[in-house]
Amino acid sequence: MLEQRNRHFMIAGDRCTRACGFCAVTTAKPFPLELDEPDRVAEATRRMGLMHVVITAVARDDLPDGGADHFRRTIEAVRTVNPGM
Ligand code: SF4
Repeated sequence: MLEQRNRHFMIAGDRCTRACGFCAVTTAKPFPLELDEPDRVAEATRRMGLMHVVITAVARDDLPDGGADHFRRTIEAVRTVNPGM
């Protein structure tokens, strides 16, 4: 069996502020960001022994920066824990 060394993570919640017709993600008012999520994602990638990670997110039009800083923090946390990733 081929070992899977890559995964996708969707951050910033499971409620999206948009409603794309092809997408099954729930459209609703999002919950506040979970500030420990970047570290939790990083720890998950370490424990899973991954080589590649795709980080995606719901749209967060409710936030002034659209969630960009949360994305930055998550990427930095993942790279800190997995320097070669
Ligand atoms: S998650 Fe992405 S594709 Fe789905 S409704 Fe939100 S913006 Fe559209």
